[in-house]
Amino acid sequence: MPYRSPVGDILFSLNAVADLKGMVGKGLAGDLDWDSVVSIVGEAGRFATEEIAPLNRPGDLNGARYENGVVTTAPGFGDVYRRWAEAGWNGVSAPTEFGGMGLPHAVNVACTEIWNGASMAFALCPLLTEGAVHALQGFGSRELLDRYLAQMVSGRWTGTMNLTEPQAGSDLNAIRTRAERADDGSYRLFGQKIFITYGEHDMAENIVHLVLARLPGAPAGTRGLTLFLAPKFLVNDDGSLGPRNDLRCAGIEHKLGIHASPTCVMVYGDNEGAKAWRVGEENRGLAAMFVMMNAARLAVGTQGVAIGERAYQQALAYARERRQGRGPNGGDGMVPIIAHADVQRMLMTMKANVQAARGVCHLTGVSLDLASHAGTAEERSAAANRAALLTPIAKAFSTDIGDEAASLGVQVHGGMGFIEETGAAQHMRDSRIAAIYEGANGIHGIDLVQRKLPLADGATVRKEIAGVREIASDVAGRGGAGFGATAERLADAADALEESTRLMLDWLGSDQNSALAGASPYLRLFGLAFGGACLAKAGLAAEALAESGDKSELGRVGLARFYAEKLAVAAPGLARAIASGGAPLEPYEAILADSA
Ligand SMILES: Cc1cc2nc3c(=O)[nH]c(=O)nc-3n(C[C@H](O)[C@H](O)[C@H](O)COP(=O)(O)OP(=O)(O)OC[C@H]3O[C@@H](n4cnc5c(N)ncnc54)[C@H](O)[C@@H]3O)c2cc1C
Repeated sequence: MPYRSPVGDILFSLNAVADLKGMVGKGLAGDLDWDSVVSIVGEAGRFATEEIAPLNRPGDLNGARYENGVVTTAPGFGDVYRRWAEAGWNGVSAPTEFGGMGLPHAVNVACTEIWNGASMAFALCPLLTEGAVHALQGFGSRELLDRYLAQMVSGRWTGTMNLTEPQAGSDLNAIRTRAERADDGSYRLFGQKIFITYGEHDMAENIVHLVLARLPGAPAGTRGLTLFLAPKFLVNDDGSLGPRNDLRCAGIEHKLGIHASPTCVMVYGDNEGAKAWRVGEENRGLAAMFVMMNAARLAVGTQGVAIGERAYQQALAYARERRQGRGPNGGDGMVPIIAHADVQRMLMTMKANVQAARGVCHLTGVSLDLASHAGTAEERSAAANRAALLTPIAKAFSTDIGDEAASLGVQVHGGMGFIEETGAAQHMRDSRIAAIYEGANGIHGIDLVQRKLPLADGATVRKEIAGVREIASDVAGRGGAGFGATAERLADAADALEESTRLMLDWLGSDQNSALAGASPYLRLFGLAFGGACLAKAGLAAEALAESGDKSELGRVGLARFYAEKLAVAAPGLARAIASGGAPLEPYEAILADSA
């Protein structure tokens, strides 16, 4: 069965889990109504299924190619990208002032999943452009906005994010790219960046690079970084393209996955220096870049959901066709492998995890919308804190889930999963990067614990834990028998999360090592409890629908139960692992010592 964008599941989650329908119903998204959301998501799904998804496999096989500074993208990528941009899809959440649709973040999250499920390597290009648009919108001068933004929103020009250097990955303090002031108020850049996604390609007329660099005499570390805009082609006053800038792509990487997405080494300033303009204040570049990174983090989390969904669809289709072994009650002939309990376990784990992570991403998107549009300042501030708390979970939990689902997808295929021909292996190779870029997942665990738990003196995280409890008691109060032990297991997960949160907040003041050692398991625990609540909410909505005569969604009750009884039960174990604290220095060296 070919891949289909999961439009129905996405809309169900946007409505029942994230309450986007409620938000637009209250007029918090201008004059947008729910029917329009349904038709936009449906049309995105159609375009992705019909036009983008067929690029995925040939893109993997052909990859992007590099020769003498020129990058040629995989066959079909340029044509489809141009049709996609002409249809307006590059500007889903971009400001209407610059030609965007100005739709809520939550709708953009839905579309981002749709593009990435169809082809992650394709969707990465606009993902970076969108981040660059956000950063420029927040920090660019009026002149920069007028010169660049409409072209970037339309997708005629694409954007990149240039942070990483060979010695500066997770630790941006070490960035060395140098900026010099020029007499005309612009700047010149000198240095090398690595791993720059779509740093060079042939799909758009111009490429707008956002580059972190250091001015002479700037303070050491990240407090001395300034953000610059450097276009591939300089832009004349009338908006036409001028000569090439002094920057080039020196090569592209050979990678495990996303072969069709060029990952570029970029060299700035071979000669007179790459001409650049400042975005935001001097030495405040990281603040501007964070705007871009926060948008990109949620988008990358959504990539985890997208690939997990695609791997699930493929594994489900295979499991329905492949016949092996006898069914549970014996019989003569071989049965489709989906009849085996262990294969059902794998498929349900994939589906439940993907839908839980989708719920986390949708709620993060809606929180971002409410942070701008909720009725009162207090509501806006609470929503902003909620979005900040959920962003590392949306990024790291969802991308871990994407990886696990893709790996299970290979397992469901048996030996054929290991053979490239089926395509299951591509999902596993493609998904692996999402847990690494946009901040490796371990760094997001640390961000969650060190920066997000203390928000509003712990009130933000406590409110989320109370929310999980509330849903558990809703299930206990009005959920049907199909929920099994969901309410109890969710309450256990909330207890585990509460206990670990208390420990983490204590340790932040007294034992940083234990807090850091527990950060990743804590993020997973949070995802499990919160994801379980998302699925339970969807299950309750499905029951309500059934009461009004539509029983088509009732499978969601069983899915919520599976998640609570089989997956969220790991929460107390994680809490125990966290409570055992960090390893003191000496045992770590002894434990990891080379054997004689
Ligand atoms: C395909 C691809 C595309 C990319 N696209 C871009 C792009 O467009 N723009 C861009 O600027 N960059 C890009 N990157 C770079 C990417 O963001 C970095 O690879 C990532 O941030 C990790 O940095 P690193 O590779 O140097 O790993 P390192 O920083 O060396 O980390 C290695 C490991 O150590 C852990 N670690 C590091 N520091 C700590 C710490 N303080 N505490 C605990 N654990 C720690 C990490 O979690 C990780 O597991 C891309 C990379 C790839 C592979």
